[in-house]
Amino acid sequence: MTKKENILIIGAGLCGSLLALRLGQRGYNVRVIEMRPDLRKVDISAGRSINLAFSDRGIKAMRMVGIQDKVEPLCIPMNGRMIHDKDGNTFMSNYSGRSHEYINSISRGLLTSLLMDEAEALDNVTIEFNKSCKKVDFENKTATFKDYNTKEEIKIKADVIFGTDGAGSSLRKSYYLEKKFLFSFSQNYLTHGYKELTILPNSDGGFKTYKNALHIWPRGDFMLIALPNLDGSFTVTLFLSYDEGEYNFNNLTNPEIVTEFFKKEFPDALELMPNLVDDFFENPTAPLGTVKCSPWHYKGNTILLGDAAHAIVPFYGQGMNASFEDVYEFDKVLDQHKGDWEATFKVFEKSRKIDTDAIADLAIDNFYEMRDHVANPIFQEKRKLEMALEQNFPNEYSSKYSLVTFNENMGYHEAMTRGRAQDKAILNMIADKAVSTANDLTKEELRVILTKVLTETEDILDEDRVAKTMSH
Ligand SMILES: Cc1cc2nc3c(=O)[nH]c(=O)nc-3n(C[C@H](O)[C@H](O)[C@H](O)COP(=O)(O)OP(=O)(O)OC[C@H]3O[C@@H](n4cnc5c(N)ncnc54)[C@H](O)[C@@H]3O)c2cc1C
Repeated sequence: MTKKENILIIGAGLCGSLLALRLGQRGYNVRVIEMRPDLRKVDISAGRSINLAFSDRGIKAMRMVGIQDKVEPLCIPMNGRMIHDKDGNTFMSNYSGRSHEYINSISRGLLTSLLMDEAEALDNVTIEFNKSCKKVDFENKTATFKDYNTKEEIKIKADVIFGTDGAGSSLRKSYYLEKKFLFSFSQNYLTHGYKELTILPNSDGGFKTYKNALHIWPRGDFMLIALPNLDGSFTVTLFLSYDEGEYNFNNLTNPEIVTEFFKKEFPDALELMPNLVDDFFENPTAPLGTVKCSPWHYKGNTILLGDAAHAIVPFYGQGMNASFEDVYEFDKVLDQHKGDWEATFKVFEKSRKIDTDAIADLAIDNFYEMRDHVANPIFQEKRKLEMALEQNFPNEYSSKYSLVTFNENMGYHEAMTRGRAQDKAILNMIADKAVSTANDLTKEELRVILTKVLTETEDILDEDRVAKTMSH
């Protein structure tokens, strides 16, 4: 009987906890093993980034497991980007022209805790902590763990093993080191790293700056962003080169130079951060990278999901959402091939990898867009026009950002292909002065622009299709 099968999940992060909950709901015996202490009991940070942008693809997965009502109170809506220039002027650039489309700020710790609580409430799911996976014998479906409490090594055998142990996955490492099959793997670091800082709440617990936005201080080669937390604080992240430019992580080595850097580049943020220097020297600097690999699975024995299969840089706010969508898509395939794990894994990976490769590439694009283009006049004109098109023709136009973030039924790859073609069409038209981006365009004038954009987009998509067939 399929339902009695024993599933081992390595890693109780966002993806592993959701997967445990879903497979538990489906009746499997699920054992989850996590390297870190239980974050519900011990005061540890939940790992990387304290809060995250959470959007439709992730919410869709919450609906699947029936906990959207419990997740909602944890969310702070962010309607757009609030952009801060060097003089402290701000302007808001909404994420969509449709008012029901916005992203949310959510605490990694609270969301992971909720998912773990829900999973553990099922009789057939257990989560164990302080045991780190060292290697996986994927041929024999056995994983070896080091128990941090007893210092002993334990071996756990299962019918199927899932590696949801994040960007440094032990299952992926075993695939790579064992050389038992053709396993491809790439890891590309950005030259930039990140450091988290904080804007503390006001003394009355209120927010020191506008709550319902993702704040950005774009400065070309580097940037600062801030996302709100339920307690009135903001988690601020500095993205900066390790060794290039006048100021970089390698030369920001004393309080004076850190303060000088912020005074020059982010004066309005500095005013909100009297705690800057302490945070800066207490908090780690961490690298950012993209991991791609294939295959994710070995026969019907083991599979990688979430960041373990496809870690991406954080600039589209989609890593967690994509990892949740993995579970959603996996669940759909499981329905079709129940009982045949190898077929399930194969079909899932075949359809899913093209989408996770796409979001990895989009996330790199957005690195440049956020730190640079959002402050660029042509980009702002394009956003203004797209906003007007979305407002006036909500069922006919969606920007690339909307396709990726809010169109949960369109795969990332399709969203990327269509979105890039639209971007090219609009930017060309603005540069050629073929469209007006005046503020007072009538609906009829906008209709003409919409038709032009859609026609031009289709032409570009056709050209791409032809180019692709020719190169095959
Ligand atoms: C700075 C930053 C900002 C981000 N912002 C966003 C955002 O705004 N929106 C968004 O959608 N995504 C964002 N992401 C991406 C998001 O954090 C990841 O995509 C997401 O955490 C992936 O979930 P996961 O469960 O696959 O991996 P993880 O969250 O990394 O979880 C892996 C779990 O496995 C455990 N583990 C690791 N190794 C072992 C082992 N050997 N044995 C046992 N357990 C192990 C870890 O302790 C952890 O609990 C951001 C990432 C970064 C770095």
